[in-house]
Amino acid sequence: MAQVTCSFCGRNKKDVDLMVSGISAHICNFCIEQAHLILGEEEKTKKSTSKPKFKLKKPKELTAYLDQYVIGQEDAKKVLTVAVYNHYKRLQQKEDHDEIKIEKSNIIMVGDTGTGKTYLAKTLAKILEVPFCIADATVLTEAGYVGEDVESILTRLLQAADYNVEAAERGIVYIDEIDKIARKSDNPSITRDVSGEGVQQAMLKLLEGTVVNVPPQGGRKHPDQKMIAVNTENILFICGGAFDGIARHIGKRLNTQPLGFSKTSGSLSADRENLLQYVTAQDLKAFGLIPELIGRLPVLTHLDPLHKDALKRILTEPKNALVKQYTKLLSMEGVTLKFEESALDFIVDKAVEYNLGARGLRSICEAIITDAMYEVPSDESIKELVIDEEYAKSQFDKSKFKRLQVA
Ligand code: ADP
Repeated sequence: MAQVTCSFCGRNKKDVDLMVSGISAHICNFCIEQAHLILGEEEKTKKSTSKPKFKLKKPKELTAYLDQYVIGQEDAKKVLTVAVYNHYKRLQQKEDHDEIKIEKSNIIMVGDTGTGKTYLAKTLAKILEVPFCIADATVLTEAGYVGEDVESILTRLLQAADYNVEAAERGIVYIDEIDKIARKSDNPSITRDVSGEGVQQAMLKLLEGTVVNVPPQGGRKHPDQKMIAVNTENILFICGGAFDGIARHIGKRLNTQPLGFSKTSGSLSADRENLLQYVTAQDLKAFGLIPELIGRLPVLTHLDPLHKDALKRILTEPKNALVKQYTKLLSMEGVTLKFEESALDFIVDKAVEYNLGARGLRSICEAIITDAMYEVPSDESIKELVIDEEYAKSQFDKSKFKRLQVA
């Protein structure tokens, strides 16, 4: 009988772990692995030499997608989707020297905590065909101080791009809590503003476009570390922050009644809503962002505070709304879950009362439903669970929220 040998390396079948046979040839496990490596290398060179190709997603398409998850925030959605669309177009622009060069327009979003800034950015990231990462400005410090260097923001982007520098160089970065690096001029005891103005200065070049040496593992740079050079010219930066108290500046500027001096609590929220939508670069400067930084974030948008009706919609409408999630979880146990309207209103009222925004909805729901989630899997007689206001209230009163209030 003829001996089976690998058609590529000639090894005998008995000398290899595996021999795959085709119509008129055989290949051994060593050659398969070798071929796999060659394929990988080939892919890499193709990626690094080919111009990126995108399917342009139009602003309205992007918004329609966002609408499935994020309730309201029409202004922010419009600004973000236009910016992302233009970002794609900019990346597709041919290198024609006569042509008008489209500049990138980094964005800054101002909105109360828990109104959906990060959520918008995250949801957008899901449909983007470019690498995307979220960084937190609070951990950044000026070089030489304890904390992370500004360049570490790009480490995350590199990781999101699987260390493909070319891909990272056309990515999008969301920088959260940008307001926390505001200049703290009202604190005279700080001789050097380590975490404020220094960080803003360090960010300037990054936002504008420069070649940055990025530590591949993040954290602090040290001399022996091998750096990866990343050009930030085509990276779109989106910054977000709550800018607590900025409404006062806006109020003063508009010469309306400043927040906090309202006589009725009802007009307080209405005022605030009206004020945030008038936010300008001037207000950001008054808050403590340096003009150079503001100049590099030319697109400014705001998020609306979430009132009761919006919070209720958040509970029930989005594709992965909390109520839908709990219903799904229980249906997997063969149990039908129903929230009565009055219970939903109760949850929303509590979120407003504790000033927790949309972020609070989840913890309130957990407080109400955890006992049921504990009992149901072990009790096969339960086929339906109806959460009414009374049940919601009794569960809530037992929870840590109530203890929080007593304290
Ligand atoms: P922040 O504005 O502080 O960045 P987040 O985006 O982190 O707030 O919001 C916290 C959570 O609240 C989100 O994960 C999301 O589940 C929910 N949420 C906030 N705003 C909205 C919204 N407009 N629509 C739907 N869910 C929202």
